[in-house]
Amino acid sequence: MTVVAAVLRDAARRFPERRALVQGSTAFTYAGLDALADQVAAGLAKRGVRSGDLAALVLPSGPEYVVAYLALARLGAVTTGVGPRYTADERARVLEQAKPELVIATEELAEGVPGGLELLHCTPAKQACDVWGDLRLDAIPPAPRTTGIDDPDLPETVVFTSGTTGTPKGALFTSRQIAAITEMDTGGRWGEGGPQLVATGLPHVGFMAKLAGYLKLGATMHVLGRWRAEDALRIVARERIPYIGGVAAQVSLLLRRPEFDSYDFSCVKGLIVGAGPSPAPVVREARERFGAGYSIRYSMTESGGLGTLTSFDAPDEEALHTVGRPRPGTELEIRDPDSGRVLGTGEAGQICLRAPSVMAGYWRNPEDTAKALDAQGWLRTGDLGVIDEMGCLRITGRISDMYIRGGYNVFPLEVESVLLAHPAVASVAVTPRPSDVMGEIGVAVVVPRAGTPAPTLEELRAFAAPRLAAYKLPEALRIVDELPLTGMDKVDRKALADRERRADF
Ligand code: ATP
Ligand code: MG
Repeated sequence: MTVVAAVLRDAARRFPERRALVQGSTAFTYAGLDALADQVAAGLAKRGVRSGDLAALVLPSGPEYVVAYLALARLGAVTTGVGPRYTADERARVLEQAKPELVIATEELAEGVPGGLELLHCTPAKQACDVWGDLRLDAIPPAPRTTGIDDPDLPETVVFTSGTTGTPKGALFTSRQIAAITEMDTGGRWGEGGPQLVATGLPHVGFMAKLAGYLKLGATMHVLGRWRAEDALRIVARERIPYIGGVAAQVSLLLRRPEFDSYDFSCVKGLIVGAGPSPAPVVREARERFGAGYSIRYSMTESGGLGTLTSFDAPDEEALHTVGRPRPGTELEIRDPDSGRVLGTGEAGQICLRAPSVMAGYWRNPEDTAKALDAQGWLRTGDLGVIDEMGCLRITGRISDMYIRGGYNVFPLEVESVLLAHPAVASVAVTPRPSDVMGEIGVAVVVPRAGTPAPTLEELRAFAAPRLAAYKLPEALRIVDELPLTGMDKVDRKALADRERRADF
């Protein structure tokens, strides 16, 4: 059995009546989820799904996704999720790369599924127990009844990266890594049962690699179909959710809701926020208004979503300007990106990370695997950073985002973190534009704060000038209503850069 299947079986025995999964008026107990996973596994087995097959879930974020995942896990199949927010074209590219034996999709999302792949339609249900309609067999399936893990090196799940820098890559996790992530995750301070709000899309590493941990703890997972600030706030207050996860943009949206102060958030012990930088004003405001800790998480899909954290009670010097220290079991090194030489405190270089949670490799992609992992198991993250004298990691940019203006390297992240502090800027991305004279120049793509006039280029440059060398200051400004996002809701840097290159806006 896969880790997640074994953990579910055990949890159903320990907490049969506890709610495992809730979405709106649909709820499954642990015993109910376990039984349904068995029934759907029987249906899938009858259709020929076998251990080791790759099944791609192209389903909305809801119970049908979780049930499919668990049923496939029962059969020892490998599961991957394809973001429901992808365009048909993006879906096609990811599926062509993954080459699944089976695709399970709703009619609506099936567009973009390349021909030649076996496609199973799933009709989302109006009622909990009908989720799987015809597929569900009442017969007890020939699924393994043991609770042991078959082989720790068998593939268990493939999780796609966000595609910020190009086509998403599928990170493969075997049972060994899922077991390690579960162990590392459930030992932490927030590793307690009780209610959890699932803030990430279900195909994301924040769910795919963490599901076994939630089940092991007997957590009640509240899954939002699509994340909306008003729903998240209501569920946090009503269900007494202790830890809020997600990205900084989501936290800003929560804080901006007019009904915020009408709720009682005394249940909230902390916010754990990652996937991108957290601007200092957001950290400060969130700490004050939730009356809770704010921990910044730095991690990536390839590391199983684990990496470094700032602690809830860290002094501002750590909490506002760093991404904290490695979690237990995780090693960090900063290396010279060209020579690979290990650098010392205060020297900037590529962040490399080693932990039992790190992926086995990219799915069906040996070239990228060889670039990302070295023989000693170190993951080259592609991010740049410095370990400071407190032992905390500071992120300074991404190797692939760097552009060169007149011979000088510029990292958009550094410029963005300065511009974000401007009162008229709600969000900003800096992207290169080809220039005959300079090679490339920086363009600030700005979403203005609601209710304030949009800033001018001169204002932004004057604001940033005391904190940035002149060659880093943006030389063009584009005001937009929103930034382009990837299917995983991160700023799509590749799309921005392509647009400037093609002068297409
Ligand atoms: P792709 O690899 O497909 O280009 P991606 O790297 O954005 O996309 P993810 O694995 O979701 O996909 O994101 C991990 C990356 O997000 C990290 O490598 C880092 O660049 C960035 N990141 C994560 N946490 C933080 C943080 N706290 N501060 C700054 N950047 C962060
Ligand atoms: Mg990446």
